[in-house]
Amino acid sequence: MTTSVSPGDRPADDTAGITRRLFEVRERIGRAARDAGRDPTDITLVCVSKTFEADAIVPVIEAGERVFGENRVQEAMGKWPALRERFGALDLHLIGPLQSNKADEAVALFDVIETVDRPKIAEALAKAMDKAGRRPRLFVQVNTGAEPQKAGVLPGDADAFLKTCRDTYGLDIAGLMCIPPVDDQASPHFALLNVIAKRNGLASLSMGMSADFELAIQLGATHVRVGSAIFGHR
Ligand SMILES: *Cc1c(COP(=O)(O)O)cnc(C)c1O
Repeated sequence: MTTSVSPGDRPADDTAGITRRLFEVRERIGRAARDAGRDPTDITLVCVSKTFEADAIVPVIEAGERVFGENRVQEAMGKWPALRERFGALDLHLIGPLQSNKADEAVALFDVIETVDRPKIAEALAKAMDKAGRRPRLFVQVNTGAEPQKAGVLPGDADAFLKTCRDTYGLDIAGLMCIPPVDDQASPHFALLNVIAKRNGLASLSMGMSADFELAIQLGATHVRVGSAIFGHR
């Protein structure tokens, strides 16, 4: 059946389009990794499914993806428990800002929380993890562009904050995450994140989205967060 689509809309059933775009993204990740002399299996594709419902997510799971990113705790709670029941273990990343009053829910649902960025959140997560006996992997978000409206610790405060996470709250931080300013060239931001990670002995770097994941891979990304290039426009 052919559905006519007005610009900006998406077809009711875009399974074929989603699957095709996913395969293209995988190809591009593989090529970017090889061009950079890296092993493609060292790069984790985080499929960013925010705003999309199960009908769009299921084809991606069925094509073999197991790692997904959501930016809102509430929205994720509404769709992932049923998908986990149906498909088994899935690795769910929180990539949006976390409020401390949602720490318990975030710890219960997510396997990775990429947006640790202030002592209040570090403390709330430490308490929630002790209570739940469950320890999601944690990334610290760095506001590499020092944008006032954006979440993330400032680059100059990152080392001290990482030390606070470890020493004061007993948190094991796995890596760093950044979202460069939309109007900037991304490469200096990716390079800066890499430098901060290296000097703090952190192995994981979550950087690069649909528009720039190849560049991020060239500059050391271990996790790329790709939404619209797979699922289509939001
Ligand atoms: C939405 C989002 C993405 C994915 O963005 P696309 O441009 O659709 O690939 C990645 N990271 C974060 C933090 C996001 O909020």
